[in-house]
Amino acid sequence: MKAAVMRRECQWCHTPIVTHDLRIKYCCKQCYEEAHRAKCRENFRKRYAEKREQELERNKDYYRRHPEKSRERVRRFIQRRKNNATN
Ligand SMILES: [Zn+2]
Repeated sequence: MKAAVMRRECQWCHTPIVTHDLRIKYCCKQCYEEAHRAKCRENFRKRYAEKREQELERNKDYYRRHPEKSRERVRRFIQRRKNNATN
């Protein structure tokens, strides 16, 4: 059985490619690597932003439920600043 020739374009530079292989998405190794790197960066950014968001939300929630902790934290912060000023 003869495989159908596919006409598609490189997902990175949009150069037309003619291939039998469904898995091929890029015209060359360089495009593949560039795209892969960009994807990794993007994923990393997304994951980091999500984590940060969750952390902030958790903190907010915690201090909402424990307002005395919030005051304590402010007091500690002021205390530390005083210590730094005297040192
Ligand atoms: Zn390409």
